[in-house]
Amino acid sequence: MIRFETLLEKVRSYSPEADVELLRRAYVFSALEHKGQVRHSGEPYLVHPLEVADLLAEMKLDIVAVAAGLLHDVVEDTLTTPERIAELFGPEIAHVVEGVTKIGAIPFSSSEERQAENFRKMLLAMVDDIRVIFVKLADRLHNMRTLHYLPEERRTKVAQETLDIYAPIANRLGMSKVKNELEELAFRYLEPKAYEGLHSKVESKRAQAERAIDELTRTIRAKLEEAQVPIMHLDGRIKRLYSIHQKLKRQKIDLERVYDFVALRVITQSVKDCYAALGIIHQTWSPVPGRIKDFIAMPRPNGYQSLHTSVVSEHGFPFEVQIRTEEMHRHAEEGIAAHWKYKEGRVGDQRDERYFHWMRQLLEVQQEVRDPQEFLQSLKVDLYPEEVYIFTPKGEVKSLPRGATAIDFAYAIHTDVGNQCVGARFNGKMVSLRTRLQNGDIVEIITQAGHKPSRDWLSLVATSRARSKVKHVLQAEERTRSIELGRRLFEKEARRFGLNAKTVLESEELATFVAEYGAQKPDELLMHIGYGKLSARTVLQKAVPPGQLKEQPPESSVVAAVKRVLRAGSAADDRIKVRGTDEVLVFRARCCNPIRGERIVGYITRGKGVSVHAAACPNVLVFDPDRRIDVEWDSARTDQAPYTVRLTMEVEDRKGMLAEISARVSGINTNITNMEARTGGDRHARIDMTVEIKDVKHLEKVIKSIKAVEGVVGVERAARV
Ligand code: MN
Repeated sequence: MIRFETLLEKVRSYSPEADVELLRRAYVFSALEHKGQVRHSGEPYLVHPLEVADLLAEMKLDIVAVAAGLLHDVVEDTLTTPERIAELFGPEIAHVVEGVTKIGAIPFSSSEERQAENFRKMLLAMVDDIRVIFVKLADRLHNMRTLHYLPEERRTKVAQETLDIYAPIANRLGMSKVKNELEELAFRYLEPKAYEGLHSKVESKRAQAERAIDELTRTIRAKLEEAQVPIMHLDGRIKRLYSIHQKLKRQKIDLERVYDFVALRVITQSVKDCYAALGIIHQTWSPVPGRIKDFIAMPRPNGYQSLHTSVVSEHGFPFEVQIRTEEMHRHAEEGIAAHWKYKEGRVGDQRDERYFHWMRQLLEVQQEVRDPQEFLQSLKVDLYPEEVYIFTPKGEVKSLPRGATAIDFAYAIHTDVGNQCVGARFNGKMVSLRTRLQNGDIVEIITQAGHKPSRDWLSLVATSRARSKVKHVLQAEERTRSIELGRRLFEKEARRFGLNAKTVLESEELATFVAEYGAQKPDELLMHIGYGKLSARTVLQKAVPPGQLKEQPPESSVVAAVKRVLRAGSAADDRIKVRGTDEVLVFRARCCNPIRGERIVGYITRGKGVSVHAAACPNVLVFDPDRRIDVEWDSARTDQAPYTVRLTMEVEDRKGMLAEISARVSGINTNITNMEARTGGDRHARIDMTVEIKDVKHLEKVIKSIKAVEGVVGVERAARV
């Protein structure tokens, strides 16, 4: 068992100024908190945090990381709160411990490839301090090293999770030393038979392989010395079982035929020397074609740099050689952790600049950072800034864009869940559907059969999937409403001719017209009648033989007169909305010429859409209440063309009257498009003026300003423009 003093020595060796007292306090605190707890191995629990801290010190990480390693399990396993840790050890250490606790609580459940990828992303997205990952990986590594103490099914679960989640994360961060050991251990527990088989086969070749390694390294050393290529280090090893295993599986071959299970590593002083060494090795042995890889010129996505080649020895023994500089080697082994070492007051130098670039690439960091030193110290891991990761109650992970709401999540589960959602629970708490999702939320959607999306959902959703589904439902509803409307209009029209609408709709003649019109079924005609694109009369004329179409006794002459008025003007107006639908043709009635801001009512006309009247229009009184429909000014269209309004006024006939009125009206920013005056006999005159008006308030202002002119007797808004 490792002793705390040994850990201290290790930390002091790379960081002489480290706050030893802080580490000692963390150790004592951890010892007290975990007192009485025992691991599966039978050892005191304290062994675990101590080993984890030691692994972090092995990576030469800063004191925050090492102290967090000592304390990483106290929040999860004891009654200690993060607040207490912050009080005793400062906010940074508390933050790291809390982060480790948080990701430890994620319930990984599936090894399905895509699911695992989401878990990895979520885990990384939840972390805002890279040291959380370091501690978590060290924690996992020690747990894997002591996995044999666990009961078997726990073993398999932990090993699978390691292989699916933690080894790839270590790989993503370039920490190949940690990754390799995690994979090797996971392989051993997940496929014990394959592992044992391979192990014994490799063992049987070990003596031979080691002799070969010995001979080969001696040869390389001599050749490089001769060519005056200095080397820092040279070693050889048998490759890891997991990587041999994967190769066997990939190439479907037997160990006898595995090309190279021995690898040599040459560490040089400079990049130039790397290429020089490669040349000398190729002169000494024949290279295997297609096996030379230049990861120096073309680094791997995680930043790995090295030259690789495979050669065959004079005894026909194939082996791989990796050549790289010391710095590349450190990157290769430790990845991002190599940049997290104790700084010793070193100011950002050229190397940091390069680290910075390397890490920027590695982390795909989006934000602008000017000072690399500052960047290194405050590195926030935001690997996936565009996404949030959410759990279903069953533990599945869904990824959604940032800003997505409960509605987006509902549609991500299933269209029906989306359409029928009425509320949501986030982490067990009821919230409104507009609540935005946060990383790691466990979200449950509450549905209600028959519930339908509303138009305002369109402004609440962030995913195009949800948006298009909501639109789809709204459009379908609009269609249904329009068909209903069309049917009512058609029935009414049919009644006028003493016909039964149903019979007409089912007639062969109508079927012919449906086809001619290019529709699929009669409902489509009704829909177009409802939209105002087709008149009910036209359809009747097509469906009934000419002689049989006889109008019933006419309506009252008042109604007929009003209708003529209505038909007179029919310019479509998109400034007005019919409640619940977008697709009905709407026009302002000429009789009252309503303008924005006035109270209005709509009437469904025969085949011409909806006519809109001022609520005060006398014609409104004689309309069929059945055809009344709610309309409103579209508040999204305030920037539309002005309304033309005609005003008539009685004034005293005096010099300068016209000029004064037009000056007043223009003075309040009103465009006059026409003005005419006629003089009566009795020193009175009548003025007709046409103005462009924004809304009813504007009109009131204009009228008030005219009335304020001396000699104006009366002003009226003309009924017709
Ligand atoms: Mn632990």
